[in-house]
Amino acid sequence: MSGLYARESRSVSKMAHLRFFPQAIVGGSGAYVTGDDGRQLLDFAASWGAASLGHAHPAVREAVNRALSDQAGASYLSAANEACVLLAEKLLSLVPERARGRVWFGHSGSDANETVARMVVAATGRSRIIAFEGAYHGGTVGSMAVSGHPAQQGARSPGLTLVPYPNSYAAGSPDAAKNAALAHIERLFATEVPPEDVAAFFIEPIQSDGGMLVPPDGFLKALEGLCREHGILLVSDEVKVGLGRSGRFNAFEHDGIEPDIVVFGKGLGGGLPISAVVGPEAILNHAVAFSLQTVHGNPVCAAAALAVLRTIERDGLAANAARSGKVLREALERLAPRHPLIGNVRGRGLALGVELIDGHGPAARQTALTVYRAFQLGLVLYYVGVHSNVLEFTPPLTLTESEAHKGVAILDQALADVAAGQVDESLLADFAGW
Ligand code: PMP
Repeated sequence: MSGLYARESRSVSKMAHLRFFPQAIVGGSGAYVTGDDGRQLLDFAASWGAASLGHAHPAVREAVNRALSDQAGASYLSAANEACVLLAEKLLSLVPERARGRVWFGHSGSDANETVARMVVAATGRSRIIAFEGAYHGGTVGSMAVSGHPAQQGARSPGLTLVPYPNSYAAGSPDAAKNAALAHIERLFATEVPPEDVAAFFIEPIQSDGGMLVPPDGFLKALEGLCREHGILLVSDEVKVGLGRSGRFNAFEHDGIEPDIVVFGKGLGGGLPISAVVGPEAILNHAVAFSLQTVHGNPVCAAAALAVLRTIERDGLAANAARSGKVLREALERLAPRHPLIGNVRGRGLALGVELIDGHGPAARQTALTVYRAFQLGLVLYYVGVHSNVLEFTPPLTLTESEAHKGVAILDQALADVAAGQVDESLLADFAGW
């Protein structure tokens, strides 16, 4: 364990820790971070996708420097600022027509989803919300209240109904998963959840923290049909897999749907805290002073976000995510025949997951050992999933093909070392993960 990591434990609370290994970093550039021991680690997590353009991207650096050298305040609560207006105009151009109304700015996916949850109920007068089992929409009281991830230590909203997310791998086929999930929702609508009481249906276009589950073809389209039929607002939480990561700008585009409300976060600021909700004017302008925190609409973060969006467009980073993602995915698929632990490789673009299983089912222990071993060998990788057994790949959108191959070679070694029993299990004692 490094000196910095040990010092941290004597000064910083653990309440926000989700640690998989004793990593302490002092810098970073592109797809690499620098450990306090001087090691260069290839970063396939990108701070859970927040470092969307990689670390220290010049476009973000320049935008932040410029915004700070003549600072237009620190907030948009009581004064308009140009960066927020430009960013709102840009975001409105990037969503479907039906969501093209107004933009609200927050700090995180959590405050954005919390705001949506309050706003849709207040604006529609309907009291219910539907979301998926395994969904992670945030870590604040109000965003946890509309989430379904079992690792969360918070109460669900009394108006929330959770429904199963279709899991093609577990169900045996995409069609079986799709049909069961749709039948479940239709049965609920016919019985205990009157659809006319439902304000909104929250979706993740790929359920990432729940296990990087890709919806079966046609599922979200059918769900959109049900929402339209009953006047239910469809909310696409693009916080983790949006903004180019899936290989398209919006992840919901793969499914041919048009959500009413789109939520952006994480990678939007390229490493700085900013989130955005985009949706119809009637909902987003329901009330004034409804959801405010002092430095919401911070012009420095907004300038960074604008630079991120312009860079994604200028450098074709959604296309790069599709291209590098294909290389990464194929390399991961080639590992499967040599590693019995690999049950399933899935995802879209640079939002990929590898589910590990053994004879007993989800291989949570081996998953934790694999990410620990990969860290020792120079690769940063975390895991997700309601059973803690899905390796998650959310590298920077700038990832090159050679970086993809290099990371997979390290993972190959890590999996082999775990299978050979060469990784000391006692290492995991302080790393419960989630
Ligand atoms: N939505 C999704 C889909 C997420 O994956 C997350 C974070 N994992 C959030 C919302 C919450 O974002 P944050 O932690 O930045 O508040």
